[in-house]
This record gives sequence, C-alpha cells and structure tokens, in this order.
Amino acid sequence: MQASWDRLTQEIRSCEKCPLGRSRTNAVVYRGALSPRVVFVGEAPGAEEDRTGQPFVGRSGRLLDRAIATLGLPDAEVGILNVLKCRPPGNRFDRAAARTCRPYLDQQLEILRPELLVPLGARALASVDPTAPAILGVAGQPRTASGRSYFPLVHPAAALRSRRLRERWEHDLHALERWLAPRRA
Ligand code: URA
Repeated sequence: MQASWDRLTQEIRSCEKCPLGRSRTNAVVYRGALSPRVVFVGEAPGAEEDRTGQPFVGRSGRLLDRAIATLGLPDAEVGILNVLKCRPPGNRFDRAAARTCRPYLDQQLEILRPELLVPLGARALASVDPTAPAILGVAGQPRTASGRSYFPLVHPAAALRSRRLRERWEHDLHALERWLAPRRA
C-alpha cells in the first residue's frame, strides 16, 4: 500500500496533463494518515497551499483544523485532500481540470479507503456525489453514494465570509460529531 501511495504521489507531483500543471508552484497531494477513518475533501489549493505543497494551510485550513480538534478526531484518523491538485489561476475552480484530475482522487480514495468522506462545499460535493442536491440542502446530513458514506459541510472559506454560513458550519459540525460518536473505534 505504501508503495502504491508513493507511486501515485510522485505521479501527481509531476503531472502536466492540464494547463494547471504548468502554472503551479507545487502540486498539493494530501495531508494526514494513510489509514484514515475520515477524509475531508476540499476544492482546490490556494496561494498558501501552492507555496507549501500542503492542503488547507491558510485561513480556511486553520478553521478546518480547529473543527477536526473539536470533533475529537486524532491525527491518525484524519486525511485532507482536494478535488484539484494544482492551484487554478485567480483561484477560479476549473471544471475541465477537475475532469482531468478526477482519476487521482479516485485512486487516492481507493488506497485510503476511509469510513467517511466529508466534502467541503459545492464543488467537492459534486465530485463525491454528482446527483446530490445543492450543498445547503444536504450539508450536515449523512448520505451515501456508490456505496460510500459521506457527510457534506459548507466550505470553511464560506464560513469565514458569512456569519450565517459560520453558524451553519458550527451547527453541522455538531451533527457530524453526533454521527461520529457512537462509531468510535
Ligand atoms: N485550501 C485548500 O487546500 N482547499 C480548499 O478548498 C481551500 C483552501
């Protein structure tokens, strides 16, 4: 497993299958454990992530890390990744790039096999479950798609921008905490 993970990581780091591969500083592959219970799925790296090669290390990342601590999830049970592995210029989500990048997400999840996915925001939700209703209709509720359990949340960047969405973020995190509690290993 470690060998296939390392191979995949190298492939993503050197990928130039779409134009984002030529404009990025670093591809952003993954942060976390290799046998995670819960994998948080973001949209795309921002400036800080592009500079460091690590997902969710800017302001949104700090909010996400605090949320993970509130959930009582130890580092050994958590992973964080993005739908897009390279920063889109101007932070504009690139749908064509997401299609090209898709097999990397699938291969990562195939290796990691988490018990639960937590898509953050509309783009991540659409990539985990293309048939899901709009994010605000389903955030904070456990769902399944293709035999996979997932629990969507609003994107932490949205929670930082809007008081209403910050309240929604906090509310839905409690719902996730309640979902996780009886399932503790
Ligand atoms: N940082 C990430 O890595 N992903 C996001 O979706 C937002 C910020």
